[in-house]
Amino acid sequence: MTQVDTSPSNFIRNILDEDLQTGKHQSIQTRFPPEPNGYLHIGHAKSICLNFGIANDYANAACNLRFDDTNPVKEDVDFVHAIQKDVSWLGFKWQGEVRYSSNYFDQLYAFAVELIETGKAYVCELNAEQTREYRGNLTSPGKDSPFRNRSIADNLDLFTRMRAGEFEEGSMMLRAKIDMASPNMKMRDPVIYRIRFAHHHQTADKWCIYPMYDFTHCISDAIEGITHSLCTLEFEDHRPLYNWVLENISIEAKPRQIEFSRLNLQYTLTSKRKLKALIDENIVTGWDDPRMPTISGMRRRGYPAASLREFSKRIGVTKQENTVELASLEACVREDLEANGPRAMAVLDPIKVIITNYDEDKSEQLIAPCHPKDESMGTRTLPFSRELYIDRADFKEVGNKQYKRLKLNKEVRLRNAYVIRADDFKTDEAGNITEVHCTYDADTLGKNPEDGRKVKGVIHWVDAKINKPAEFRIYDRLFLVDNPAAEENIHTALNPESLVVQKGFVEINLVEAVAEKAYQFEREGYFCTDSKDSTVDNLVFNRTAALRATF
Ligand code: ATP
Ligand code: MG
Repeated sequence: MTQVDTSPSNFIRNILDEDLQTGKHQSIQTRFPPEPNGYLHIGHAKSICLNFGIANDYANAACNLRFDDTNPVKEDVDFVHAIQKDVSWLGFKWQGEVRYSSNYFDQLYAFAVELIETGKAYVCELNAEQTREYRGNLTSPGKDSPFRNRSIADNLDLFTRMRAGEFEEGSMMLRAKIDMASPNMKMRDPVIYRIRFAHHHQTADKWCIYPMYDFTHCISDAIEGITHSLCTLEFEDHRPLYNWVLENISIEAKPRQIEFSRLNLQYTLTSKRKLKALIDENIVTGWDDPRMPTISGMRRRGYPAASLREFSKRIGVTKQENTVELASLEACVREDLEANGPRAMAVLDPIKVIITNYDEDKSEQLIAPCHPKDESMGTRTLPFSRELYIDRADFKEVGNKQYKRLKLNKEVRLRNAYVIRADDFKTDEAGNITEVHCTYDADTLGKNPEDGRKVKGVIHWVDAKINKPAEFRIYDRLFLVDNPAAEENIHTALNPESLVVQKGFVEINLVEAVAEKAYQFEREGYFCTDSKDSTVDNLVFNRTAALRATF
């Protein structure tokens, strides 16, 4: 694998440098903490590259993969597996075993008991509506819950019985006793445990109370010795709570939470919940639909992992909210594939060419480079015979000077093969061209278009006898609007042409194409074999990207 390079300087790395210089830390420990309630998307890729990139670049650093699994109702072990696959595919290694917040449920429970014992947590019986009412709002302070001053003994008793399953869901919760008048709503006696009679993918039926995110995350960080807990800006006002919990329990480590702005991408949804809705409404075929901005979707589409790392590097890490142009992601993909994608030929909208002066029984094996600039990729052989396919758009009866393809009575070069001249053509009843009759010049094989023949145009082709029929899935952006997240009705924002299917032929060599590894189909775009639907008898190719930016 190529060297993973993720080393831009940014404000977070400046903080790390300083903490190392001042001796505050001897080593750096980060974590990537996905909730296993969906597949990872391009926004997560940013966070992964940041956290694991630091672990790679600093001498004494490591990054944990920790599933933030405190909400069993929405989580699933399939997501746990998919997330691990995605992180590995991106080229990163987590330290040691995969971790789970649920590994710490016993410790979390003990810390909750400790808070009760020190008078800093209480069992509250307000229902959801009352709790909201008591919390106040941004302009007015909250009111103390009538249960706030329960005795420690009562609280201990009730919390023990909550755990034992004596009370119904929603009837009780454990809350931190902080400040109902705090200007920060998160500090108004936040809930730290709730009752949920739910089966958990890791702890099965051991628990019927589950800790809340804000209580769990900081303690999990501290237990794992995380030095810098990097998260997105929406957690900024959670930070006082993060610190409050750690200051009020007997735990040594004091990880520091640092926020950065999340990735927003033009024409793209970056919310698992909204992506899931696309699946539920059958707008896409699943989490790994090649139009999805999920890591699995982009992988299936043929995006190289290195191009996603490069993208993360280019967008950088700041505290500024902004929206990145989709074109810049595609540019990273194209640059990678231009350099690393082997060349091949495919005809997506075929018409037949008959070379009338080519012997009917003859066939040749022409040699073609797999990459025009990278000899290390070697060569391939292309069968060539009397009948070929070319693209419908590459022949016209008449065409102006700009049309540098095949015209009647004019010459064009077949890529990696001969110069041909169009002499005649046939049409069907509707007037569509079905066949072009050409003659070839046997003396022009392997010569450049500048060989004195003034043949400017080069077109691609596939042998009509030895080839593979193929289905091409031409993808475009899923949404026509810049910010689909702001749409009320997502259906009207959809691009009706986000998937167009074409049927044609590919050169025979592509039977061996590895799924998800993109080729440049000459003059057509970058394409890879679909990992799910392609079979030897029915090859399916996904268009990874067009050759040039289309918008
Ligand atoms: P979603 O809103 O899609 O559900 P999330 O933040 O709830 O995302 P988590 O699984 O909780 O998803 O996220 C794991 C990590 O990835 C968190 O640290 C989160 O801050 C980060 N992350 C999620 N979305 C983005 C994004 N768009 N840009 C950068 N980081 C992100
Ligand atoms: Mg979340």
